[in-house]
Amino acid sequence: MIKSKNPYTGEIIGEFKELTKPEIEKALEAGDNRFKSWRKTIFKERAELMMNASKELKKNKQEYAEDITMEMGKPITQAIAEIEKCAWVCEYYAENAEKQLAAKTIKTDAVKSYVSYEPIGVVLAVMPWNYPFWQVFRFAAPALMAGNIGVLKHASNVMKSANNIQKVFERAGFPKDCFQNLVLSSSKIENIIRDKRIKAVTLTGSKPAGSAVSSVASEEIKKSVLELGGSNALVVFKDANIDETVKTCVQARFQNTGQSCIAGKRLIVHESIEEEFTEKFLKQIRELKSGDPMDEDTFIGTLARLDLAEDLETQVQDSVKQGAKILLGGKRDKTYFEPTVLGKVTSDMKIFKEETFGPAIGITTFKTDQEAIDLVNMSEFGLGVSLFTQDLDFAEKLCPEFEDGAVFVNELVKSDPRLPFGGTKISGFGRELSEDGIREFVNKKTVYLN
Ligand code: NDP
Repeated sequence: MIKSKNPYTGEIIGEFKELTKPEIEKALEAGDNRFKSWRKTIFKERAELMMNASKELKKNKQEYAEDITMEMGKPITQAIAEIEKCAWVCEYYAENAEKQLAAKTIKTDAVKSYVSYEPIGVVLAVMPWNYPFWQVFRFAAPALMAGNIGVLKHASNVMKSANNIQKVFERAGFPKDCFQNLVLSSSKIENIIRDKRIKAVTLTGSKPAGSAVSSVASEEIKKSVLELGGSNALVVFKDANIDETVKTCVQARFQNTGQSCIAGKRLIVHESIEEEFTEKFLKQIRELKSGDPMDEDTFIGTLARLDLAEDLETQVQDSVKQGAKILLGGKRDKTYFEPTVLGKVTSDMKIFKEETFGPAIGITTFKTDQEAIDLVNMSEFGLGVSLFTQDLDFAEKLCPEFEDGAVFVNELVKSDPRLPFGGTKISGFGRELSEDGIREFVNKKTVYLN
């Protein structure tokens, strides 16, 4: 039995029976069969259904959001915003998939030659709990619009949301089995990836999970897309607009109670403005309201599981032992972790080197631009970096220096359906969202007519 536990109250809020072997077989067969007809549907038909999914999300956002909040402790207003963003990605692909996948003519010696983008079949998505709806929709909307079938293995602590997602597609009128939630623990995933009816896999989560899943996929010569962790830097140059930058950095680190792969996790501040920046940063963080995640005024909820809060505590305590100074917070009460800021952080400390998945951040200073670039690139992660400066020409010149999948200037790194999203180094490979995302799981077929 897989259990969902409210991390704020400690209450068990749902129990889910794992699929048996015959049930898994039935689900994969059903998905494969559905593909035979779904791949032949026209874009207009798929787009209408995807728009229905968007409407369904908007109509019942409160219901879906409350389950998210109860399962993983995300403050309710942020859960509602997550559902609204899912509606947006459905609309985006309903409106754009057809042109993104239109055949591309290429002039050659042939009478006619082109590339067509064709669906590949059933794609498995292994997804995490931190954005229980968004992580799934940013896979499912393009996958279904491309004519693929989706099967979901969601994180064990958000199975209610996983069922709700299947419900959204059913309520939207998608043909049965276009999208199925498989209630499974991770130990069952290897066999599913090896099944011939699964054509590819996408995973969002930690490095060990990504490595396990993509190794099996590689052995079977199946494509995988990995969106793994990040340790994004927020680099504040001396000419930055400090008030605006502070506001953005607080959002970048503390929204979703810090549990985001693209959160700003390392503050790298020019030494000449450290004092002013830190003072304003701490002041704003002190104003963030912690409390019951169901309360509309709450900005900081609990962490999604006790082990995650304990891991963060170890990272903070070890960094302090290594010489970091607690400027704010630092304490844990069960799943709640105080918003925490450490000063005097150097690149050898855990809070700098490791991904911290919660409301804690360290401040490191730099003197020269090159030093800032080196500090950013020192991380083994490569999701994104934010630069804060009023000189856009200077910022743009620096962009090629960073090894990350994204550089945002005077903005937090965020996902947007219109822009490709993904990382380098151990943050993974492949891209989601935009035209790049929808083209990950298609057969780019060369057609040559002579
Ligand atoms: P995991 O990576 O373990 O979980 C993510 C998903 O992968 C879940 O569905 C999980 O299932 C599944 N999974 C885990 N191991 C395997 C495996 N060997 N084979 C197949 N599927 C697997 O994340 P955690 O929840 O343990 O979080 C740990 C850390 O991961 C966080 O502290 C953070 O650093 C990072 N993380 C990054 C995220 C991101 O957005 N990039 C999101 C979440 C976590 P199950 O729940 O059943 O184990």
